[in-house]
Amino acid sequence: MDELPIPNRKLIEFNPGLAGKSTSILSSRGCPFQCRFCTFSIVMGRKWRPRSVKNVVEEIELLKDQKYKDIAFIDDNFTLNKKRTFRLCAEIKRNQLDNLRYVGDCRVENATFDMLRALVTAHFIQMVFGIESGTQRILDYYNKGITLAQIKQAVKNANKTRLEIIYGSFVLGAPSETLSEVRDTIKFANKLSITIPIFQILYANPISPIYRELVEKGQYIPQKDDWKKVFKIPDISPTSIPTKVLMRLLEEGVNQIVSKRRVIHHLFKALKYKYYVDTIVASIIKRKLKRVESIGQHQFP
Ligand code: SF4
Repeated sequence: MDELPIPNRKLIEFNPGLAGKSTSILSSRGCPFQCRFCTFSIVMGRKWRPRSVKNVVEEIELLKDQKYKDIAFIDDNFTLNKKRTFRLCAEIKRNQLDNLRYVGDCRVENATFDMLRALVTAHFIQMVFGIESGTQRILDYYNKGITLAQIKQAVKNANKTRLEIIYGSFVLGAPSETLSEVRDTIKFANKLSITIPIFQILYANPISPIYRELVEKGQYIPQKDDWKKVFKIPDISPTSIPTKVLMRLLEEGVNQIVSKRRVIHHLFKALKYKYYVDTIVASIIKRKLKRVESIGQHQFP
């Protein structure tokens, strides 16, 4: 992996936005797991191939020189090897690269307090957990290889490290998922102390195990141009809850989650962090500048 060249980001025009320039980085490829809805391990391979920590740090140094502020690790399975994650965090600190902000993701069974603390110390401000479901039966169906207890523990650990933003992603619409299981997942998300829950309808393309399973069971007849499509599973599975119903449940669920109490709680939590305060201040300044510009234009047409 180290032999691959570092991407030349100068070829791309970036819009720095309010909080500065941001980009993504790939520090490894592949994932040994085989979650039923995911094609990463099929497309990128089940063998996990990391770049060396030294090589990754060299790229981050380059990004710092190019004035990037936010870096998102978009590996298939970024923290698979805990020892490497610890080493990467230590090298980020040692090379004084912890004044950049980082984003990453982590499987919940790997999200120990010590590893999350190392990530926070290296200035990871945001981690995404693939939680997927609030019921063990559906987690097992997805072949996710995690338990509800591990999810709760990961979120607890993340909160203890004072990680700024905890995303939890959920997938709804498995072929045998019942209405009460969907409701249980929404309730579960609501009870977890995560900053932002992301709900998605279950999608799959023709190389995914779920699509193949539907075809093998005779529940979906493949069409010749399927290869260029991505399907919402509820649209092609006769046993799934229809997308419309899921969307309605989601709307209700999101309304519950985004209750006033929760918004106020997160607002106070957010104000503790420089990142949010910087963003809010930058936004106010930008608005004021716009007003000054428009007054200026008015005065000197
Ligand atoms: S969902 Fe994550 S852990 Fe599961 S196969 Fe895909 S990349 Fe691997």
